[in-house]
Amino acid sequence: MNIYVIGMGPGDAAYLTPRALEAIQASDVIVGYGLYVELLGELVQGKECITTPMRQEIQRCEMARDKALAGHTVSVVCSGDAGIYGMAGLVHQVCEGHPELTIEVVPGITAACSGAAVLGAPLTHDFAVISLSDLLTPWEKIETRLDCAAQGDFCIALYNPSSKKRADYLKRACDILLRHQPETIACGIVRQIGREGQEYELCTLGELREKQVDMFTTVFIGNSQTRVIHNKLVTPRGYENK
Ligand code: SAH
Repeated sequence: MNIYVIGMGPGDAAYLTPRALEAIQASDVIVGYGLYVELLGELVQGKECITTPMRQEIQRCEMARDKALAGHTVSVVCSGDAGIYGMAGLVHQVCEGHPELTIEVVPGITAACSGAAVLGAPLTHDFAVISLSDLLTPWEKIETRLDCAAQGDFCIALYNPSSKKRADYLKRACDILLRHQPETIACGIVRQIGREGQEYELCTLGELREKQVDMFTTVFIGNSQTRVIHNKLVTPRGYENK
C-alpha cells in the first residue's frame, strides 16, 4: 500500500481500530492536522510527521501524494472517520493522475456514533448528518438540507456547529428546524468526545437556539419520538416497553 487514509476515531487510542493501528505501524510518514498527530503520541515516534494547520487540506494531501511517489508508505490521519468530512475524497482527487498509487481508506468511529454513545441512544432510527460549515458548501444548500431533514422528522447530528466567524449558525439552524418541529424536541450537545474534558448536556430545541458551542462539539437533535431517560437521550425504535 502507498497511502492509507485513516479515521482515528474521536481521540482516545482505545477507539482506534486494530486495522488503523496496523496501517500506522506500516507507515514511515504520517501526515495530518497537528492536534490529531499529537493525539497519536508514541505510535508515531520515530516516523516522519508532517503536520499542517487547519484549512491546508489540499497541501496536506499533495504532500502525502508526493511522499508516496518518492517511495514512502504514508498515513494521512483524520479524526473520526476519514470519509466523513475527512481527507479520503481529497486524497483520491489529488492522486487522480497517478493510477500507480494504491490507496486504502481505513474507516474510523465518526463523531455521530461516538457522540451518540455518550448521550445514550439518540440515533436508533433514520438520521441525517449535516455540517453547518459553509466554507465549502453554500449556506442556502445547508438551509435546504436542514429544512428537509426537519420535514422528514429525522434525528440530526450537526457537525461543525460553530466557529468564531460563524457564532450564530446554530441559532440560524434551530430557527429553520423550528419551522417544522416543536420547541420541545429533545436535543443533546457533546463536547470533546473520547478526549480529556468530555462533557454532554441535554436541552430542548427551543433552548438549543440560545446555546454557545464550539468546533469541538457535535450537536444532536432528536425526532418527535426522542425522549430523556435518566439523563440520557433515547430515540425509541418502536419496541413497546412492557
Ligand atoms: N471526520 C470527522 C469529522 C470532521 S468535521 C468525524 O468523522 O468525526 C469536524 C467536526 O466533527 C467538529 O466540528 C465536530 O462537530 C465533530 N467532531 C469531531 N471529533 C469530535 C470530538 N472528539 N468531539 C466532538 N465533536 C467532534
